[in-house]
Amino acid sequence: MVDTRAEEILRTLRETFAMPKWTTSTRDPFRTLIVTIISQNTNDRNTENAFKNLSNKFRINPETLANAKALDIEKSLKVAGLYRNKSKVIKQVSQIILGKYHGNMKQMLSLPLEDARRELLQLPGVGPKTADVVLLFSAGKPTIPIDTHVNRVSKRLGLAPEDGDYEIVRAALQSLYDSRDYLAVHILLILHGRRYCRARTPLCEECPVSSFCPSKNFFKQKRLT
Ligand code: SF4
Repeated sequence: MVDTRAEEILRTLRETFAMPKWTTSTRDPFRTLIVTIISQNTNDRNTENAFKNLSNKFRINPETLANAKALDIEKSLKVAGLYRNKSKVIKQVSQIILGKYHGNMKQMLSLPLEDARRELLQLPGVGPKTADVVLLFSAGKPTIPIDTHVNRVSKRLGLAPEDGDYEIVRAALQSLYDSRDYLAVHILLILHGRRYCRARTPLCEECPVSSFCPSKNFFKQKRLT
């Protein structure tokens, strides 16, 4: 369904932000999976540093991480939150991918979207967002991962219901946009959420999509009180 307001928001965000270069290349799904597990409840800088530490110590493939000592993985991830649990999860996930999928996620990801998603969701530590990130970025599947920025911004902009849970927000956004735009929608809503539509103090005065936003008056009032 074409929604003119939704299209205008996307067009404006495209004009405002440059798409990061890495989004144009399909990344190794296992690396994407590991980075996304590390990123859970962790900011970008700490995620990057933890992944760098892990990559310096280990080759990032299922065989190496399945056979690594959990304590050694832990040491690399210390900069990330919940590092003990994440180390355990990374080792378990690596063991399963090695045992069940012979160390290769390609076949699993070549399944139809919902089947591949179901397989991913069976892995320990993999929730809907992590599964959707792997599916979108490393398998080019038509899904929109809903992270904290995408969730907040899409609700403020009235693109998704205020009280919608993960699946409702995902379905709402996917119904508004062409599947070819899902990657752009995901990235641009994140960039907008970091730059303008911040969690505590959104910069509505400078916001490039304020003319489409039903929440701007609410935040204006809030600033006045
Ligand atoms: S006007 Fe304010 S609340 Fe609306 S999208 Fe922009 S920054 Fe967010």
